[in-house]
Amino acid sequence: MVGSALVRRLEREDVTLITADRDDVDLRRQQQVEDFVSDARPQAVFLAAARVGGILANDSFPGAFLYDNLLIASNVIEAARRYGVEKLLNLGSTCVYPKFAPQPIPENALLSGPLEPTNQWYAVAKIAAIKLCDAFRRQYGCDFISAMPTNLYGPHDNFDLDSSHVIPALIAKFAQAKAEHGKEVIVWGTGTPRREFLHVDDCADALVCLMRRFSDEGPVNIGTGTDVTIRDLAELIAQISGYRGNIVFDPSRPDGTPRKLSDVGRLTALGWRPGISLREGLAQTYAWFERECHRARVKTPVDPVHAGRNA
Ligand code: GDP
Repeated sequence: MVGSALVRRLEREDVTLITADRDDVDLRRQQQVEDFVSDARPQAVFLAAARVGGILANDSFPGAFLYDNLLIASNVIEAARRYGVEKLLNLGSTCVYPKFAPQPIPENALLSGPLEPTNQWYAVAKIAAIKLCDAFRRQYGCDFISAMPTNLYGPHDNFDLDSSHVIPALIAKFAQAKAEHGKEVIVWGTGTPRREFLHVDDCADALVCLMRRFSDEGPVNIGTGTDVTIRDLAELIAQISGYRGNIVFDPSRPDGTPRKLSDVGRLTALGWRPGISLREGLAQTYAWFERECHRARVKTPVDPVHAGRNA
């Protein structure tokens, strides 16, 4: 999702784009990464690749979330150092911060308390990647920086209910309920946790801004600086979809961290602001999902829930 948004954004710049497709390079294999980087010789690298997933996926596959993300980061960051990449931007997520970090979360909250247990595996790998960039900056003078986007959403997200984040899950659930005149949609948890959401095209724009204008140790948060409850989010998506049935909360599912709002002072000091409101971004993503779903249905009779899955 982030990779394709970055490609869309970078097509507007005077650059030659090189992408490492999953089928061509397995970023968990050091030799493959070294061969790719030594051959392509990029001047700048956006490290957007990762094993990512929502609250259930993180909790269910701890080994894969920790191991894959450690290897991807180590291999790419070391190859960038070895082959003289001038600038590297390493992407993480605001879930690297402690579960009970002050809200909004400042970057200096990193490593100041215990992590949220449901996503600690991913977070530990991402914290190691931030520290590797900082260590290479100190030891070798590499201009490697780290950005921590908040919860992202948009086209090419993962809409699979078992592994997705909340927005694609709710888009898929409400679209299906609307199409089948369902009487209720189940929303996980209590509906009270608060989350901040950023459209992936805004994120790509912020990443280009950081690549140009930022050079220092430590993470930089990327977000809107505003959050909503999961209940408000569900009601908004229901409204956009036109679904009129009940919304039922399932408290047997985990809430995760109670609140995750980023302090975006470091980013806004560079002059960057988001351009897409939550309502506008959700409506656009809902329309994208319906289009993809429709296309998939015309081609083959597939489960609509899985139709948008190509992240
Ligand atoms: P998190 O931000 O790391 O906790 O990841 P998620 O995006 O997966 O979950 C955010 C919040 O949305 C949590 O409180 C979930 O319990 C809640 N949520 C409600 N319904 C769903 C759903 O259908 N799928 C997911 N993934 N989360 C949901």
